Amino acid sequence: MTDEIIISVNNLTKNYGQFEAVKGISFEVREGEIFGLLGPNGAGKSTTLEIIETLREKTGGQVMVDGFNLDKDPGEIKKIIGVQLQTSGYYPGLTLIELIELFGGLYNQPVKPLELLDTVNLRDKAKAKYKELSGGQKQRFSIATTLINQPRIIFLDEPTTGLDPQARRNLWDLIRAIRDRGTTVIITTHYMDEAEVLCDRVAIIDSGRIIAMESPDRLIDRLVATGFERPKEVKQANLEDVFIHLTGHALRPEN
Ligand code: ADP
Ligand code: MG
Repeated sequence: MTDEIIISVNNLTKNYGQFEAVKGISFEVREGEIFGLLGPNGAGKSTTLEIIETLREKTGGQVMVDGFNLDKDPGEIKKIIGVQLQTSGYYPGLTLIELIELFGGLYNQPVKPLELLDTVNLRDKAKAKYKELSGGQKQRFSIATTLINQPRIIFLDEPTTGLDPQARRNLWDLIRAIRDRGTTVIITTHYMDEAEVLCDRVAIIDSGRIIAMESPDRLIDRLVATGFERPKEVKQANLEDVFIHLTGHALRPEN
């Protein structure tokens, strides 16, 4: 992570008719970090992401992405970001290679499908059709498609929802590897364990407002400093540890 600010959001608002979904939020994302937007369903996470991605109109506020103003240069912003499509956006009957070539054409970028599939551990599925992939494989493939235009920033909206523990951990490793190559990652999740291990910093959003923003470690330390203690005895492992211990870290063929 560097100290450079790559995204800056200032007093962002979004109304849907009379309803204020985003009520004036401000935050900055540093280059090379994994930044988490956390919050319950309906908090305004996807709305915020899609505005920064240039896919949704904002009501008010300013957004800068890598020096470009969202109002003036949305085209420049599009060039340097990678956006994960909803899975329904893929032609189910095309193979992974065909899909990557299709996206490469849309982005007007030369692509090397097999190399790209390597980065997400899907080379052996190169000739499989999208509809034949498991849930975890679909998620990995959709992350691969965010990388086609060699973006400086990728946006992942709940990438691990619905995955089993092995596939989830595998996806965390992949996201870290992408960050380690210098790409900034913004991710939404409502799994707090995931945010705790993956995110350098998080903003917690509730009903359209940011109510906390820090590294997970500092947020926890702060809560503990108020005298908070867990009501139950803290064990050295949890049920997910048991599950992974029994079933192993390895991905299943279905993953
Ligand atoms: P999150 O991603 O945190 O679950 P969203 O950004 O999807 O939240 O939604 C925030 C709020 O805005 C929710 O109450 C949702 O119902 C509402 N909302 C989202 N999209 C629309 C829309 N196109 N029209 C009207 N209301 C919407
Ligand atoms: Mg959402």
